[in-house]
Amino acid sequence: MLKCRELNRKAIAISALALGVAMGLYLATANLQLVSTTQAQESPQLSPVTALAERDAYFPGTEDLAPDEMRVIACGTGMPNARPKQAAACFLVELGNGDKFIFDIGTGSMERLTGLAIPFDYLDKVFIGHLHADHFGDLDALWVGGVISNRQRPLRVWGPNSTKPEYGTAYAVDHMQKMLTWDAASRLGNVNTQGLQIEVTEFDYKGVNQVIYEENGVSIRSFPAIHALDGPVSFTLEWNGLKFAFSSDTYPNKWWMEYAKGADIAIHECFLPPSLLVKKQKWPVPDALNVGTQVHTSPSMFGKVMSLTEPRLAVGYHFFNDFDTAPFVERQIRTTYDGPLALAIDYMVFNITKEDIRVRMASINEDVWPLPSVTEKLPADPSQRVGFTDFLIEGREVFQDIINKIYDDTNEEFGTDVEPPN
Ligand SMILES: [Zn+2]
Ligand SMILES: [Zn+2]
Repeated sequence: MLKCRELNRKAIAISALALGVAMGLYLATANLQLVSTTQAQESPQLSPVTALAERDAYFPGTEDLAPDEMRVIACGTGMPNARPKQAAACFLVELGNGDKFIFDIGTGSMERLTGLAIPFDYLDKVFIGHLHADHFGDLDALWVGGVISNRQRPLRVWGPNSTKPEYGTAYAVDHMQKMLTWDAASRLGNVNTQGLQIEVTEFDYKGVNQVIYEENGVSIRSFPAIHALDGPVSFTLEWNGLKFAFSSDTYPNKWWMEYAKGADIAIHECFLPPSLLVKKQKWPVPDALNVGTQVHTSPSMFGKVMSLTEPRLAVGYHFFNDFDTAPFVERQIRTTYDGPLALAIDYMVFNITKEDIRVRMASINEDVWPLPSVTEKLPADPSQRVGFTDFLIEGREVFQDIINKIYDDTNEEFGTDVEPPN
């Protein structure tokens, strides 16, 4: 277990390898202790056969969330550049009252959310900080993929407006739906599509600490962020005396300093420093300096932000967190900040109570399947089906005998009586 107060002057740059080694050491130690207590009665060659009481990794679906506890899971910590190791921005907040909230849904993050084995009915609230693809590029995957994965509730989306309607969240979501017109039409009558409804709440990006959500004892507020164009915002979520702050993307600004101040967990962008943008990403120096320090927050700027924010735990994200970049990024942060720090990587898990902040990695079942809906799964309504033109119907080779056998076998297996179409 890594405790927040033990983290001063140490960044948590947990790699899968380090976790594996740590787990190995933990298991070895636990086994030795258990064996030593039973040695008197049993052979020392025999291993204990009971489960370990505590594991230093998070296995989704195996732990209770205490009534006063917040769990935050990094589901995307990377860059606009896609890579297998890190999806783009996404953080899931789970609360001990049963509420769940998604903050940003960047490209690739839907796969991470799926890895958490949560029914998609509960992944129905998304807060988008700004409309860069690396912060909402998987909204379509959550929208359509969530329906295919049994979500039977509307998807609820909150996001900012901008200086023109076409720069706002409502326009973006409306046109995402238009882009997927064929997709949605193709599913009518084939699967139940009530989860395809989207409810968009577009709010004023200039709102300062404005409440944009208040239900079940949870308050979510937005305040302006400064990034690329007018429109971006940052968020705080407050519940049960705990405060989560998420920057999405922003240049250091006065609103974050004031409204994220003293958060229990403060997640702020910490972009690749210009030198790495040049060396690793092959950018021209002027572009690297501009994007790294004027569009985004560079690591030493991130450190200064956190020195002023004074959170219980500072979390930096939005860089490729590798064996060679993490030490460099951390050294730059430490020139301006000496408080508790984690350098986020996908599937990093934060369990937060008033007494403790525990940081671990999740261990994911890559063979995960969708969980059932939490409400009775309704069948498709065949009357909604758009269907084919005669041109395609006349092109079909109908293997009626084989289809009849599939229907017969399936009806027998499940005790149903579905007639095959002719
Ligand atoms: Zn951005
Ligand atoms: Zn970004």
